[in-house]
This record gives sequence, C-alpha cells and structure tokens, in this order.
Amino acid sequence: MPIDAKLPYDDGNIFARILRGELPNKTVMESEHSLAFHDINPLAPIHVLVIPKGAYVSWDDFADQASDAEIADLTRMVGKVAVAVGADTQGYRLLSNVGKRAGQEVAHLHVHIFGGAPLGPMLAS
Ligand code: AMP
Repeated sequence: MPIDAKLPYDDGNIFARILRGELPNKTVMESEHSLAFHDINPLAPIHVLVIPKGAYVSWDDFADQASDAEIADLTRMVGKVAVAVGADTQGYRLLSNVGKRAGQEVAHLHVHIFGGAPLGPMLAS
C-alpha cells in the first residue's frame, strides 16, 4: 500500500520535475527505467539517490505495481552506482524512507546511498 493510499501520486514532486527536465540534477547514472543523482544536501561524503523513472511513491508501491524490468533495473542500478562512486570499497548504507514516521520528504520512491566515511549507528537514538 502507498504511504497514503488516499492521495494519488503527485506529479509536482521534486523528483518528477527532475525526471521531466524541469529542474537540474547532478546525474551519476541513467538507464531505461532509473536515474541516479547526487543529493542536493549530502549527509555523507557520498550521498546519491536512485529513483525509478515511473511514478511510484514508495518501496511497497513499487514492489506491488512496477514491472519486473523496472524492479530489476533499479535494483541493479543501486549496486552499480555504489561501485561507480567508490562507496563499496569501505562499506556503505542503503536507506529508503517511507511515509511520515520515517520522515519521507519527497513522495517519489528513492533509495539513498551513503558512504565515504564511518556512518555511525543505524538509527539515531
Ligand atoms: P527523504 O527525506 O528520504 O524523502 O529524502 C529526500 C532527499 O531529497 C533529501 O536528502 C534531500 O536533500 C533530497 N533533495 C531534495 N531536493 C533535491 C534536489 N533538487 N536534488 C537532489 N536532491 C534533492
């Protein structure tokens, strides 16, 4: 179920605008179904976002609605980007915030890749 099943996907969200070319981004990698770009406000030396090009609000929405090709493409891109930016050499973290409790700010599915420094505990206390 999407984060708020009562609301439709909002085409005006920032990542939808990036995908339409209305806002700039620092692209790391692009494929048929996915786009990876640097986070505008990095929280680690390496902080890249990977998003599907399709209109999915969350991981569960994506898992339920996306085609196998889209899911394979995004999953592979996450791994490829981690290697391409050198995050794999000393370890990295993947994170996808879903919904209010997780603090999701942009209602278009995105996977954060963090790396380049020790990342501390998994959750802030
Ligand atoms: P979340 O809190 O998981 O929804 O994360 C949203 C992320 O999007 C934050 O880390 C923001 O810094 C990032 N962000 C917001 N606007 C942009 C943008 N125009 N380009 C790149 N990253 C962005």
